[in-house]
Amino acid sequence: MAAKYADIIIDISHESVDRPFQYIIPQELSDSVYPGVRVHVPFGNGNRDKIGYVIDLSDEANYPVEKLKTIASVDDKGITAEGSQIQIAYWLKRQYGSTMIAALKTVLSVKQKLKQLEKKKVTRCIPPEELLQAAQLCRKKHQTAKARTLYALAEEEVLPYELLRQKLNVASQTLQALEKQGFLKIETESLYRNPVKHMDGTENRVTLSDTQRTIIEDVLNDYRSGEPGTYLLHGVTGSGKTEVYLGVIEQMIAMGRQAIVLIPEIALTYQTLLRFYKRFGDRVSVINSSLSKGEKYDQIRRAKDGGIDVIIGPRSALFTPFPRLGVIIVDEEHESSYKSESMPKYHARETAIQIASMHHASVILGSATPSLEAYYRAKKGEYKLYEMTGRHGSSTLPDVYTIDLREELKQGNRSVFSRKLRELIAQRLEAGEQTILFLNRRGYAGFISCRACGHVMKCPHCDVSLSEHRGGMLICHYCGYEEARPDRCPECASKYLLGFKAGTEQIEEALHKEFPAARVLRMDADTTRTKDSYEKILSAFADEKADILVGTQMIVKGHDFPNVTLVGILAADLSLNQNDYRAGERTFQLVTQAAGRAGRGGKPGEVVIQTYQPEHYSIIHAAKQDYQGFYEEEITYRDFMRYPPVAHMLAVLITSRDKQSGEELGRMMTELVNKEQSENEEAYCEVQVIGPTEAAISKINDMYRHVFYIKHADYQMLVEIKDILESFCKERELKNLIVQYDFDPINTY
Ligand code: ADP
Ligand code: ZN
Ligand code: ZN
Repeated sequence: MAAKYADIIIDISHESVDRPFQYIIPQELSDSVYPGVRVHVPFGNGNRDKIGYVIDLSDEANYPVEKLKTIASVDDKGITAEGSQIQIAYWLKRQYGSTMIAALKTVLSVKQKLKQLEKKKVTRCIPPEELLQAAQLCRKKHQTAKARTLYALAEEEVLPYELLRQKLNVASQTLQALEKQGFLKIETESLYRNPVKHMDGTENRVTLSDTQRTIIEDVLNDYRSGEPGTYLLHGVTGSGKTEVYLGVIEQMIAMGRQAIVLIPEIALTYQTLLRFYKRFGDRVSVINSSLSKGEKYDQIRRAKDGGIDVIIGPRSALFTPFPRLGVIIVDEEHESSYKSESMPKYHARETAIQIASMHHASVILGSATPSLEAYYRAKKGEYKLYEMTGRHGSSTLPDVYTIDLREELKQGNRSVFSRKLRELIAQRLEAGEQTILFLNRRGYAGFISCRACGHVMKCPHCDVSLSEHRGGMLICHYCGYEEARPDRCPECASKYLLGFKAGTEQIEEALHKEFPAARVLRMDADTTRTKDSYEKILSAFADEKADILVGTQMIVKGHDFPNVTLVGILAADLSLNQNDYRAGERTFQLVTQAAGRAGRGGKPGEVVIQTYQPEHYSIIHAAKQDYQGFYEEEITYRDFMRYPPVAHMLAVLITSRDKQSGEELGRMMTELVNKEQSENEEAYCEVQVIGPTEAAISKINDMYRHVFYIKHADYQMLVEIKDILESFCKERELKNLIVQYDFDPINTY
């Protein structure tokens, strides 16, 4: 049944979305009013005719019906750029669960209209000789300001307005008078703030390989024949994927189309930008959170006005309003930063595919270790799969040693470095080659506990252990709570209160102890707080100002370091200990990508994988860089357990101020699903409800967390269940309770 009421915003800007007005949809317009459509409505006291955008539909009135006005007509100019942004927001809201306002704020990234920068210029309208004559005439009449202006314009065809006003001291009325007399014209140029500074260097154009050429042709042929598709490029770093992106985009631009290039992290912007800039020059721009508001606003304007062809940025760059979008590239598509952590918890991969389908654009996904999702879809034929094997140039895959840490301990080695790793580091220092040491920090707490009674030091506000930092402080990584490290156990007063495992700081210390001469750089969340610290550390290492780089996940991607011939992965299985169905996938990706950093410059590389679980399939396949082998084992497990991508899973997280009300709401919501199921057996068969239960982290910032999961093979079925749960919660007007939905979650709660 068609909806009866529409929410409409009159002025579509970020801050006005909080103030939608509800209107009645007249019968005759019921088919043509939907989110994104522009309508004429009577507005305000005088019922002036205004244009507004429909943002949402409903069957219930929020106010007494007699007070509502009625939509006058539908604007017939078709869907505008704003309209299609609203359509995307509406899709996000439905598909991922959130309010329409939150969805609109995600899509309309610029908060307010900012002042446009302008520049005025003055151009002569008659030939210089005539200007000179006119100038002499003016001088005779003692119109000296006019004379100055005309002399100046006789020499220069165009002059900045400000120069005439200030340097030549000409009044604006004088300039206007001269314009009226037909000597010159005054024009206003609007300027864009451009975050991309001019870059030097010309591109070294390569001759594409047959594989690269075939892929580019395929993508463009599908596009030209009106059937743009989704493509997955599976190839190790260095296999030439970026050359494919550049090739496709180049031809898209030739057809007057635009491109969005998503990269997983701001840290990778510079090097990607440099490559695109060398090919496309000023037609490329970036957008990300490090830009000022004005810069962001101007990039959106440039995109809308056709001033740029390519935008590079993290997942939010998806919402750049290009009028003729041709292709969206999602590089490193397996990265977890493509999933939004706030509502709507959208995934950039799926959203890219949706946006592309609205614009009849192509989507290219690229990865050395594709997500199970992407590979599974590719194998099912939903995406076209291209395998790009091998690297360009002389680089070869490194030799890999897997070291069993249990064995090291048995042999009496208590250091964080295995004997093999220590030996190889020493060799590298000798040879003047570089080493990268990678610490898998996910799931790692750096917690301290009492060896006498087992008491673990925890944050009083969050259900997590505190991490020890240098200087004797204990810090909560969730809420920032800090306390001084006690000398004795608060429970039993034993003095054996000790730290467990090692963090990057401790590894740096251990290196100083064991290799006093080595120059060490550290890269982790603590050393990269400021805007360009990533770039500084990485370029210092690239310039060989250090022998060893120690770091967390952030060092495994980006930047080529030709002099790195050794990579040590200190505790490969830390991420396996998470109680999470993606733990194996994450471990495989991290170890494979870290190992791939060795021997990129022609010199052979070696990799040491230290682990407590050398027999785990994700470690075994990563050591062999064998994606296929890993995929087969992992997908079997997912299939058996009905986990994504084989089935779909909706996580519902309830956050509450008091524990009981959260628990209770969870129970009511799961009962509701069960009730639907028993009344509607056919549709709901195989809907599986798990929970409710306390979340693994049961408290953050003094807010209690409960969670339940719903699994089903069909995503849309879960969307419908979410709709039921959403309206149930809306009716109950929850107080001090927050309900969040997360489809196919990246982390379990
Ligand atoms: P990826 O994006 O898969 O990491 P790139 O496209 O960045 O791979 O390519 C890695 C390196 O190999 C780059 O320096 C690139 O210029 C070079 N390269 C890529 N394709 C070719 C080719 N067909 N011929 C020669 N060099 C190439
Ligand atoms: Zn104790
Ligand atoms: Zn805390």
